[in-house]
Amino acid sequence: MAKDRDKAKMRQARYRASHGLEVLARHRKYNAANKARSHEYYVAHRDAVKQRMKAYYHEHKAEIAVKTREYYSRERTKKGRAAWRQVNAGKIAAWSKLHRARKMLAPVNDLTDEQWDERVVEFRGRCAYCLNPMATVTQDHLIPLSRGGSHTLSNVVPCCKSCNSKKHARTLLEYVMVTQGNFV
Ligand SMILES: [Zn+2]
Repeated sequence: MAKDRDKAKMRQARYRASHGLEVLARHRKYNAANKARSHEYYVAHRDAVKQRMKAYYHEHKAEIAVKTREYYSRERTKKGRAAWRQVNAGKIAAWSKLHRARKMLAPVNDLTDEQWDERVVEFRGRCAYCLNPMATVTQDHLIPLSRGGSHTLSNVVPCCKSCNSKKHARTLLEYVMVTQGNFV
């Protein structure tokens, strides 16, 4: 049985390798034609779909982590990201400008460089979330600036780049719930 499955998989992989573009075009066509229907299905079965996805994720967590790591370490992906950054340089600049502006306009904005340095030392140069030593130190606002948080000592912790992009505009509580898998 398992052998048959492997054989079938190999056959599929070979087929995809030689007919890749055709397959892609067919999928695109199918998805476009069925978009409304699959959205309807999703809306009607939202909770069940989410539940299924969550269950799948938990069951395959380790595999998914390996695949994700593999995917992001691929040269093609790296090049793609660099190209994306180049094309979207304007957007990226606008985002960081917005972030700076939010800092300036925060209800309280009194974090000094000295306070920040001390805070990083307090955490022994480790990320507040994953506790790993940080190659690049970023500031995370427990209550994000975009959600009305302040740029002040009690609201800022050191955070590695990876955790910071995962937490993004979530509050600390939301982030904990996401990482514990209790919140979608
Ligand atoms: Zn981290």
